[in-house]
Parts: sequence; C-alpha cells; structure tokens
Amino acid sequence: MSSYNFTPGSPTSAEGFGEELPHPKHVRRFTGFSPAEIKSIDSVIPLKSRETWKKFAVENFTDNAGFEKGFVRHVETTLARSIYNCDELAAYQATSNTMRDNLITNWNKTQQKQTTKDQKRVYYLSLEFLMGRALDNALINTDNRELVDASVDELGFKLEDLLEQEPDAALGNGGLGRLAACFIDSLSTGKYPGWGYGLRYQYGIFAQKIIDGYQVETPDYWLKFSNPWEIPRKEIQIPVDFYGHVEHHKDAHGKVKSTWVGGERVIAVAYDFPVPGYKSENVNNLRLWSAEPTTEFDFAKFNSGDYQNSVRGQQSAESITAVLYPNDNFDSGKELRLKQQYFWVCASLHDIVRRFKKTKRPWSEFPEQIAIQLNDTHPTLAIPELQRVLVDLEGLEWDEAWAIVTETFGYTNHTVMQEALEKWPVSLMERLLPRHLEIIYDINLFFLQHVEKKFPKDRDLLSRVSIVEEASAKNIRMAYLAIIGSHKVNGVAELHSELLKTTIFKDFVNIYGASKFTNVTNGITPRRWLRQANPGLAALIKSKLGSDDYLKDLTLLKELEQYADDEEFQKQWAQVKLDNKIRLVALIKKLTGIEIKNPDVLFDIQVKRIHEYKRQQLNIFGVIARYLQIKKASPEEREKILPKVCIFGGKSAPGYYMAKLIIKLINSVSEAINNDPDVGDLLKVVFIPDYNVSKAEVIIPASDLSEHISTAGTEASGTSNMKFVMNGGLIIGTVDGANVELTRECGEDNIFLFGHLAERVEDIRHEHRFSGYKIPETLEAVFDAIENGSFGNGDEFRTLIDSIKYQGDHYLVSDDFESYLQAHELVDEAYLDQKAWIKKSIINVANTGFFSSDRCIQEYAEGIWNIEPIEQ
Ligand SMILES: *Cc1c(COP(=O)(O)O)cnc(C)c1O
Repeated sequence: MSSYNFTPGSPTSAEGFGEELPHPKHVRRFTGFSPAEIKSIDSVIPLKSRETWKKFAVENFTDNAGFEKGFVRHVETTLARSIYNCDELAAYQATSNTMRDNLITNWNKTQQKQTTKDQKRVYYLSLEFLMGRALDNALINTDNRELVDASVDELGFKLEDLLEQEPDAALGNGGLGRLAACFIDSLSTGKYPGWGYGLRYQYGIFAQKIIDGYQVETPDYWLKFSNPWEIPRKEIQIPVDFYGHVEHHKDAHGKVKSTWVGGERVIAVAYDFPVPGYKSENVNNLRLWSAEPTTEFDFAKFNSGDYQNSVRGQQSAESITAVLYPNDNFDSGKELRLKQQYFWVCASLHDIVRRFKKTKRPWSEFPEQIAIQLNDTHPTLAIPELQRVLVDLEGLEWDEAWAIVTETFGYTNHTVMQEALEKWPVSLMERLLPRHLEIIYDINLFFLQHVEKKFPKDRDLLSRVSIVEEASAKNIRMAYLAIIGSHKVNGVAELHSELLKTTIFKDFVNIYGASKFTNVTNGITPRRWLRQANPGLAALIKSKLGSDDYLKDLTLLKELEQYADDEEFQKQWAQVKLDNKIRLVALIKKLTGIEIKNPDVLFDIQVKRIHEYKRQQLNIFGVIARYLQIKKASPEEREKILPKVCIFGGKSAPGYYMAKLIIKLINSVSEAINNDPDVGDLLKVVFIPDYNVSKAEVIIPASDLSEHISTAGTEASGTSNMKFVMNGGLIIGTVDGANVELTRECGEDNIFLFGHLAERVEDIRHEHRFSGYKIPETLEAVFDAIENGSFGNGDEFRTLIDSIKYQGDHYLVSDDFESYLQAHELVDEAYLDQKAWIKKSIINVANTGFFSSDRCIQEYAEGIWNIEPIEQ
C-alpha cells in the first residue's frame, strides 16, 4: 500500500475537493467542480433550482438586529439553551458562532474566487501557529466590534467578559509560531491567495504554574469546550503511511521503479480555521490536521482471537497529534516528533497536489501555480515527499521532478545556533521512512557530484556540505536538505541573514552564489498588536490621523511625528500609557497577589521564552545589583533612585534545567525584594505566570522599557521588540536581530544599546577558553549576595553562577554586565525628563511602519513566491 491509494472523501464546500473520477461534463459531483467548470456552471443548473438557492442565500448580519437574531438562534439551537441558562460561556459561544457565520460565507466566496481566478497560491507550512484568541480579532477585522459590543450589552452581557471566556489557541512555543499567525493575518488582509498548513494538537503549549517559585507544567487541553473557530472536515481523510519497506522492479522499458509499501497507516483529518483579513471580504484558510485511526482492521489478529491487539494500533494513531513539542529553538530528536513532521507534510502535500491535478495542467506548470514556504526546517521532508510523489507515483523523470521541487520551495531559517539545527539519525529515518531516505541519498549524490565538478578535489568541502553527517552515528542535516531543495533561502533580519551567509551556510554561498540567499525582516500584525492589544492608543492615533487607514498601511504612522512636541498630545499619550499600566497592575494582582501601589513608575519588562541566550539571568543579576545599591544608599542617595517595577514572564522547556533555575531565581529575588521593608516602593519584582498571547496583549502596552538583551548574534530577529516599540515602549537591547533595524528606523536616540557586537563574540568565547576572564566586581557582589542566602538557599543557584564563573560563560554575561548597568543608568536619567521620554515614545511608534507583517508578506510575495493579490 502506498499513501496514494486512498479512499476519496466526499466534501461539498465551495473549494471543491476529491478525486477526478470519470464523469459526464458539468454534472455536479460530491467532490465539487473544477475551475473551468465553475466558470460555466450557471448555465448548467436548472433555472428553478438556481432561483431557490438564490432566494435563500445566507446573508451576513450587518446591523444590531441581525446580530441579535443570530445570537438568540445559536443559543436556542446550536447550544440548545435558553435565556434562563445562558451563562457567559454560552454567550461567548453564541457570539462566536454568529460571528463565524459571517466568516464562513466570506470564506466560501473567497475560496470560490480563488478557484475561479486560478492564480498562483502560496502554502505556508508551519508546525506552529500561536494564534491566541480569535473572537476579538474577528470582530476587529470584520469591523463589527462596536456593533457587537452594543448588542451584547442589550442581551445582558459585557463583551469584555465574554472575550475572557475564550481559551488561547496556543499551538506554538514563541516567536516562530506567532510569526506564522501574524503572516496568515497579513496574507488575508493583503488579499493574497494563501493557506496555512499545520497540526491540530489536542494539547497546546503547557500551562505554566509557579509553585514555590518553580515552574510546574500542566496540560493545556484547549478543546475542553467545543471550538466555534474550527470547521471539522471529517470527510477529508488522507492516509499517511509509516515504516514498511521499498520494492524495486523494472518496468516494461527496463526502467527501475520504486514502490514504498508502508507498514502502518494513520488517517489525517482536516480542520479548517477561517482567517479574516482586516476590513476586507477576504477570508483565507488555515488547515490543521488531526491524526485518527484507520477504519481498516487487522483481521488476522482479530480472527486469531487477539481482539485487544487488533485495535491497539488504532489507539496509538491519535498520539501523533496529541501534543506540541515544548522546545523553543532546540531539537530533541524523538521518533514521535519525526512522525508528526511526516504526517503533516504528507497530508498537506497530498492536499496541494490533489488541488493542482484538478486544474489538469501539465506538471511543468506546478511551480507556476504553487509556492510552498518552509517555516524553519520542520517541514523539510516535504522536499523528498514531493520528489517521491512526482517520480514514484506520477512517473516523472528524476531531473524533471527535481526542477519542479526546487522551483516550488522556499526555506526560512530561524537560527544560527548549532545546537538548534535539526538533525535526524539515519537509522531512525531508515526505519520510519525508508523510501524517503533513499531519495535523500540520491539528492545528496547528485548534489555532491555537482559540487565535485565545480570544486574538483576539495574533499573537505564535500564532507562539510554533505546532507549526511558522517558522525559515529550518521545524521541527516535538515537545513542542508532544505537549502538544496529550495530556490530561495531567507533569514529573518538583516544581521541574521548576513550571519547565515558568512557562518553556517558559507559553503553554500560559494556553491550557489549569493543571490539564492536573501533577507526578509520579520514583522507583526498591527491589527492584533496595536488595535486589539491597545485600543486606547489606537483611538488616540485615529483621532490624529483621521481614520483607521494606518492599520492597513502602517507607514502612515509617520504623520504622528509632527505631534511629538505637542503638549496636549503628549498628555493624552501619557494618559493612555498610564491606563494600560493600571490594567496590567490589576492582572498582576489577580495572577500573583503582588500589589503595585503606584503604577506611575517605570515599568521594565522582559517577557519571552526563558533561554540562556535571551539572558534573563543578565536581567535578574542587574535587578539584584540595583537592590544592593538601594540597600547601601544613604537617605540622600535614596532620594535620587528612580522607583521601578521589573516584570518577567515566559516558559522554559520542561527539560531545560538551567532555564528553570533562572525562573526559580527570579521568583526568589521577587520574594525577598518585595518583602524587604527597606525597599518599599522603590523596587518591585514580578514574575507573571503562564505568558501567552492573550497575556502579552495586556503586558506589552504597559511597558515603558522592555529588554531584548540576547548575546549578540544569537537572536535571529525577535518580534516582541517590535510589539513593544509599536506600543510606545522604549527598548534596552543588544546589537542583535531586528534591534539593529529598529535603531535604524527609530533613531539611535530612542533606543538604549549596550554590549559586545556579534563579530566579537566568537573571539571572546575563545579568550574565555584559553586566556580566562575576569568577573567584574559589580557582578561578583551579586554572586556573593546570592551565595550568602539573600534570596533563599544560595547553594541552589550554584550551577547557574558556575556556568558563568568557571564554565566559559558562553553567553557573555560577565563581558556585557557593566555595559548593561551603564545603559540602565542612562535609562533612569532619561526617564526623569518625562517630556523628552514621551517624545521618544511617540517618535518610536511613528517609525514602526516597516515592522508590519504586511510589509513582510509583500516582500515574500514579490521576491520569493511570485504571487499577486486577488482583486475583488
Ligand atoms: C511575540 C511573542 C513571542 C516572541 O517574543 P521574542 O521576544 O521575540 O522572543 C513569544 N511569545 C509570545 C506569546 C509572543 O506573543
């Protein structure tokens, strides 16, 4: 059995699914019509039917009465409840279902239009989509927020409370997954024909609890209540095979054919998530796959009386999409993870190929119709899978197929850190995907022959660029396979893309030339990260610019610059910030019990995944240094110390010992400082548990200062740096990732940079190893305070301190510490001059136009995908 012998499904949506069965022309099939057929369809359906369909065509709500009618109908029918037992959860669901009705009619129109226009499409393959909540976003993007707010009030509820009922769709770890979410928003808003493909995990990223200062992971069963934002398409069933063996035989012309005979089969079932564009009818699709058992059954076992074992395989099928792997920027190498990757890639490609085949174009036109973007190396198996489909199943010649493959794919790299690059053991690949391994070997062979020809006798080069790493146990280097199988490779910020070319992919630049390697600096969607997260600021901006148009063309924010010195505007601006801080103070009280009595002090925030390279340890050491300074200050000196609140948040991978220790240290420091009567309101330290998208929407708008302080050269781009600046925060940061471009856009005066530069980092590490290094006194004092028990058991943090003092200080904490403290002194000084600070804040926001994900998508569309928007 190969995975292409499958039972056709019977979907009926406008998109038109299913196989090409022999059929009389223009007869409606359960599988939908082909693009050519749709064009002439009206003439074929009898007039009477057409009229009836038209008469009862579903209409979107456009006024309060329309919404309220939909709401009540959903309470009474969809939910089978009534006015007497409609609680907030039910009201949230009725609101969502009513909103969803509008989305689905627009979704249908969009998909129909995309099918008839038949333009080139992009498919964005991402193992993570960190979507957060959908309702508020849908209300905003469809321009129904005010209407629904009023209606919900009339029905006896408060919209804000209903929004709180929705669980986050947290199907991602951090930046990479959130990037994918921002991108599909921009694809829809820009009217690009594009779909996302991912996995519908039953458990998203774990929920983080803090118990006695330690991170404790609890499952995030986000599908506890029915999810109004997904459309189950149970009829779309794609078989995916694993294991088994490969058979080789010669065909009539003596050509060797390979057939993969799979050993275990799982079914991929589609769930569709409509993605509405901002103030546009356009609704794109995010298709997530869920693993289900086959209905096939092991009769041999059953007949021998082994019923239990005959159903065992079925039970394990679901485990494939049960959980998201909770590692950020780190590869764990587990078999189930590779199974997830192939399951997803196989189902998605099958879906894409099926859709293409319906157009009856020749295979050579495949890359003219389809672009596939690989978000990191996670979907790299799509390269050998497409080659397999074309060669083994469709009978194309190798070279012809390979030309199609390389023209179709683009690969986005997200890290230069060696330890984060994906590698899979050959032995595992051979067992799980035997035919794919053969194909990878052939791809490698032809590639190395090409390299050999171009650089004869350079044996070193051949082993350096080989897809197969010849270690004691051989590995497949997924990044190399992704480069070789794509026509473009991009980094995600200018510095990062330059580093790719000069470090980890240097050899490939020599082989392919520099033009294959490009940059698309990341961005974020201003609909969620400005309008939704910060309604106060959005309203103020609108009052100055005269409309919401800036949310579609973020460069219009530039006009704000002319008000940067306007005192009245500055006052309003400061008031918005203060209101947002008050909102955050309430959240902090609710989640931690910590009270911040005066919100009108500097809020200094670092929220992101906890990782040594992101250097939360540097931040908390800086906080301790400040604490020590307060403790020894004379009364006059105390007067001069700027009061501030230091806020942390973020999850550690469950198996990442050092990151978890950093969380514990932050909580221990928080406990000690917040309860030290000497300190009072001069310094508060808060760790907000369970950082996620919906919390980010409250936290980010409240910052005066945020920290983006990775060791130079380690953070590919960062996106929360952009979110903070777009919300009027200033940042303290290293010369890393997109901080560089933020500085270019906003000006050096409006950002606090510090630390060593990327080009020096390797040398400094080398010096650490061979000539030793010195810990600055300020940092020694911090270590002493920790060790002498100022923050609970000092011994507990020994490994963290030792990693810096004695084990090479890989992340250059000691080297950057003084520079970091000095930057903070400049911050304090600058904050004293509130007028100047607010001016910086306004100028920053005015210059964030470049960081809209709309700009990224346009760059991808023009430079990599070659796709165009669909005109209405
Ligand atoms: C934006 C975002 C991130 C990425 O933050 P970085 O600071 O760029 O690493 C992570 N998690 C959530 C919830 C986000 O919204």
